[in-house]
Amino acid sequence: MQHRIVVIGAGYTGAIAAGRLARRLHREDAAITLVNAEPDFVERVRLHQLAVGQDLKPRPLSEMFAGTGVELKCAKVTGVDVDRRTIAVIDANGAEELEYDSLVYALGSGWEAQGVPGAAEHAHEVASRPGALRLRERLARLEAGQTVTVVGGGLTGLEAATEIAEARPDLDVALAARSGLGDWLSPKGRGHLRKVFDRLGITVHEHAAVTGVEADRVTTADGRAIPAAVTVWTTGFAVHPIAKATALEVTGAGQIVVDATMRSVSHPDVYAVGDAAYAMGPGNKPLRMSCASGTPAAWQAADAIAARLTGGKLPNMPVRYFNQCISLGRKEGLIQYVTADDRAVRAALTGRLAAVYKELICKGAAWGVANPTLRMPTRRRRVARERATAGAAVKTVA
Ligand SMILES: Cc1cc2nc3c(=O)[nH]c(=O)nc-3n(C[C@H](O)[C@H](O)[C@H](O)COP(=O)(O)OP(=O)(O)OC[C@H]3O[C@@H](n4cnc5c(N)ncnc54)[C@H](O)[C@@H]3O)c2cc1C
Repeated sequence: MQHRIVVIGAGYTGAIAAGRLARRLHREDAAITLVNAEPDFVERVRLHQLAVGQDLKPRPLSEMFAGTGVELKCAKVTGVDVDRRTIAVIDANGAEELEYDSLVYALGSGWEAQGVPGAAEHAHEVASRPGALRLRERLARLEAGQTVTVVGGGLTGLEAATEIAEARPDLDVALAARSGLGDWLSPKGRGHLRKVFDRLGITVHEHAAVTGVEADRVTTADGRAIPAAVTVWTTGFAVHPIAKATALEVTGAGQIVVDATMRSVSHPDVYAVGDAAYAMGPGNKPLRMSCASGTPAAWQAADAIAARLTGGKLPNMPVRYFNQCISLGRKEGLIQYVTADDRAVRAALTGRLAAVYKELICKGAAWGVANPTLRMPTRRRRVARERATAGAAVKTVA
């Protein structure tokens, strides 16, 4: 009898975890199923590029996982029952249930209007492919001189505003940030950001807490009305409500609380990775929703599952940060070096070189997902079996 591992979500972290598990565990011992709502891998870190009309390389999951032994299931997860250890899915053939012995939960995140009146009705988003495609279509219909206001001064907001301004210099692009522009960056990083924003003609509204979105403007807590024929909402990601509806221990925001091996603190046969997980990182700070921390966390989860099943040594490679890689359009970038717990240090790489660096990071991340077993020699360890019992039940090594 094989140990059934189901990975839900084939974004950056789920795909990486599934590939690594396939490399670590012997095919005869472990059946790995990867469930994803869409048939292809979406490079989420490039969705702002998709929104301005660039095309992303198609990456069918079936090609990526061919020959790896991972079984792909293109279906939408509608529920998880952690007591019965089942996943409810629906696809073109109807609804069904998948059973698991170990679950890797990697459903990622989407956007959230955060209860701001009008945002859900009027704002666009770049957190999902359908959202980015809708924005692309809307931007294409804008005439010269019309306004686009990006709400949110975090990494996604900076990337979206600069990408739009560079691709459409005829538009009037603005950014509304709750605090100062890039105020978490080093002086060098901040200075560079301001220079690029000036060069691209982006109007910056600082200390602007947006409290309302209308069809043609956003309004702020201090009474400002900022014109916006199109509003792009980038104030943070929200996890899917599926985990919150289970018996798993989750945070108020619905992230699954996990330990250092990415194992649920309430249900030891469940692991969570990526945006869906709440894990403590260096400095006892929760890991930021990002590929930067999600990728090593996915390695950690896969290695921990393999170790527990095979009696190997548990991984001990704490997730840490090295830099924040920010694209500022296609020609400019900013690499802000950071401490292990993600605080900016003085050093930053700017300009064309930073743009090339960021591009290499994106390419590298996609390559890692597209080559799930990394074209490296497999080390498929055997799962420890329960010798004492007559049956062939797989024994999990704690
Ligand atoms: C525009 C943009 C730029 C970004 N830039 C950066 C960056 O430069 N660096 C960085 O580190 N991070 C960046 N991020 C954040 C990064 O993309 C996310 O943190 C990362 O994608 C999280 O990985 P994940 O595997 O948790 O989720 P995802 O990559 O979102 O994958 C989730 C997967 O689950 C699938 N799924 C969702 N719901 C269901 C369901 N019900 N049933 C079945 N399948 C489902 C989805 O189709 C998807 O394949 C950026 C994000 C955006 C939107």
